Amino acid sequence: MKTNAASWTIVGQGLAGTCLAWALWRRGVAFTLVDSGVGGSSRIAAGMVNPLTGKNFEPSWRIGEFLPEALEFYAGVEAMIHRKIWHPFPVLRLASSKKEWTKILSKFESPEVAPWVKGIVPCPPSWAGAVEVRGGGRVDTRAFLDGSRDFFERAGHFQVGCVSQESFKSNEIRCEGASGLMTGRYGAARCAKGEILTIRSDHWDAGHIRIGAGGWLVPQGGGIFKVGSTYEWSELDKKPTEKARIRIEEIAHRLGGELYEVTDQEAEVRPILRRSQPLIGPLGDSGWMLNGLGSKGTLYAPGMARRLSDWLVDGTEPEPEVDIRVFLKQSTHDESHGD
Ligand SMILES: Cc1cc2nc3c(=O)[nH]c(=O)nc-3n(C[C@H](O)[C@H](O)[C@H](O)COP(=O)(O)OP(=O)(O)OC[C@H]3O[C@@H](n4cnc5c(N)ncnc54)[C@H](O)[C@@H]3O)c2cc1C
Repeated sequence: MKTNAASWTIVGQGLAGTCLAWALWRRGVAFTLVDSGVGGSSRIAAGMVNPLTGKNFEPSWRIGEFLPEALEFYAGVEAMIHRKIWHPFPVLRLASSKKEWTKILSKFESPEVAPWVKGIVPCPPSWAGAVEVRGGGRVDTRAFLDGSRDFFERAGHFQVGCVSQESFKSNEIRCEGASGLMTGRYGAARCAKGEILTIRSDHWDAGHIRIGAGGWLVPQGGGIFKVGSTYEWSELDKKPTEKARIRIEEIAHRLGGELYEVTDQEAEVRPILRRSQPLIGPLGDSGWMLNGLGSKGTLYAPGMARRLSDWLVDGTEPEPEVDIRVFLKQSTHDESHGD
């Protein structure tokens, strides 16, 4: 399938829309990037890339392909906007209990896990074990979004505006994040509200991303850290809550230490269709989409945007695994067999 719009409208300037704008710009394709300015989850994200994730210490989905492409992409944008976007950091994964540590150790020999493990490191007091993971880091999402927006605005490719979520045009590419998924257009979404604290401390370790106790801490430079996060599946608003603040402060105590000051608390909704495995493709006569970046937009947005631009420009279809048409067909099949 190939399309020939005279000019595309990219709806949404989060990580998805911004990466797609760069992909189209590189191919010399005409487009306008439109954003309502109400913000989205890319604006509050910690920007962390962590190769081995979750309780089970497993590699992120297809990280061996997506991470090198993402790093090359961010380096290319840095050169265009003259702002630093990618900050590599070693990741310190801490285990709270002997059971968790035993599980982590059991993964060391796995051929998917081993390349990312740098080695066991001395364990800080009150933890059961510590391992250093290589390949991680932080994308400065604000620098990336603001610098890209300035660049495209100067080039006449950016507009502020709210595009209707009720009527669609065939030249629109929807990169609307959670607000687009919550219209129900892509079937049952599983979006999750997440809250995050900005913390100032001159006493914390600013040389590592720290993961443990069900959360993470990401140094932002200048004694500032982002600490998170929570997952709330039913109340999908953007209001910071006392409950989340208490939970994230517990994480902050465990991972950072006692001496700190909370300077901000923010809440947003992660766009989730199928865990953190995004989808792209055509919506019949209603344009195209890139959405469902989940909790890992920094890692997957560049590779998904490149796939979508190859599809739009050359007609090269991506692997069925990331094709929204396959996903929607599968969801309908699952629903009709749900009882
Ligand atoms: C607390 C928290 C922490 C996170 N931390 C990380 C992290 O450390 N690392 C990581 O990789 N990911 C993280 N994420 C996930 C990450 O934020 C998402 O994967 C990513 O930001 C999704 O990008 P997006 O472009 O799809 O959506 P969004 O960032 O939400 O962007 C959508 C944009 O579209 C605009 N828009 C929507 N509808 C319209 C319309 N009709 N017309 C015009 N404009 C419109 C919105 O204004 C918005 O700017 C975190 C998320 C949360 C909530």
